[in-house]
Amino acid sequence: MKYDTDQGEMSTKKRPAWLQALEQRRAALLAEFAHEEAFVVGTVSEVRGRCGKPGCQCTRGPGHPQMRLLYAEGGRRRCKLVRKADQARLRRAGARYRELKTALRDLAALQARQLRLLRQLVRKGGLRYR
Ligand SMILES: [Zn+2]
Repeated sequence: MKYDTDQGEMSTKKRPAWLQALEQRRAALLAEFAHEEAFVVGTVSEVRGRCGKPGCQCTRGPGHPQMRLLYAEGGRRRCKLVRKADQARLRRAGARYRELKTALRDLAALQARQLRLLRQLVRKGGLRYR
């Protein structure tokens, strides 16, 4: 549905300010998806792990710093260690995925809010026939 001033039922009135605000917010959220930045579908986390070598200091201490990628494959949760050389790239890709997920959630919330407000508008705006 479009609310352009040159077409449709709402053309005779100016769009309400709240609707304009919602559309601006939606445009900003959609712009998030136009970025070409790489992302990885999964959770990148930095943890401490044990190498398994007997007598290694990690058996007593906090463990070696590691980066892990948790992801789902065929309905199962999988975990991969990230090589040192890939860590910076994967850290960014994981952060980017989080941004995209947030944008999706915000878009869904915005959509629900807009529908609620539009339904109110329709309910109140009807012709009173007596
Ligand atoms: Zn160790």
